[in-house]
Amino acid sequence: MHALLVEDDDRMARALGTALAQRGHTVRRVGRALDALRHVHEAGFVLLDLGLPDLDGLELLRRLRAVCDAPLIVVTARCEERDIVQGLRAGADDYVVKPFRMAELMARIDTVRRRTDPRSGRAGAHPAHPADPADPGGAGGFDGRTVRTGDVEVDLAGRTVRVAGVDVRLTRREFDVLAFLAARPDEVHSREVILDRIWGDVFLAASRSLDVHVAGIRAKTGRSHLVRTVRGFGYQLGSPTAPAQGDGAR
Ligand code: CA
Repeated sequence: MHALLVEDDDRMARALGTALAQRGHTVRRVGRALDALRHVHEAGFVLLDLGLPDLDGLELLRRLRAVCDAPLIVVTARCEERDIVQGLRAGADDYVVKPFRMAELMARIDTVRRRTDPRSGRAGAHPAHPADPADPGGAGGFDGRTVRTGDVEVDLAGRTVRVAGVDVRLTRREFDVLAFLAARPDEVHSREVILDRIWGDVFLAASRSLDVHVAGIRAKTGRSHLVRTVRGFGYQLGSPTAPAQGDGAR
């Protein structure tokens, strides 16, 4: 796929360009906002640095969004909660703070591209509209309505959870989080995206609340590996019977 890399720092641009090329992408790198606007129409996805010499990055983000539907990931040194909220509100699909691990950024690109693929539809990522039945279920069995992993069954439409055949009562928010992960069991979901989709924002309070809800899901189901923690990034539906690597950050 063709990537538009908007980055004025040469070293960062070289590192990103190499990593993208290794993943089979072609890359056009631009260092100025005006060139980004000129070339965005050809992009399959966009990586956007917010600190550019000729235009505020958030303003560029809004202008790019006005003319382009391609997945867009902000890659920036701005790490304040307020910046992330503004970036997501301005239309970013994800937000990666420098310094970052290249493998994590590449994984986020894959996730965003899948989520924004017009064949599956953006609405498909919302728990109220669970995954497209044509979407491969990945780790969990998925018949378009119920996701199974180990002895856990999540009925997305009926909003019920059964563990070893016994109903487990979750709060509405706990179920929303679990359903969001279960609807895309083969993907790791960033904290920012979960907060944005379920809480509608990325407030600090909600950020801590997410961890509390995940703890609630684990405790009430008695399956501590049902939700897998990906340190420093987010969560994924886990396999409740297998030890989950990287688990236990909280
Ligand atoms: Ca910069």
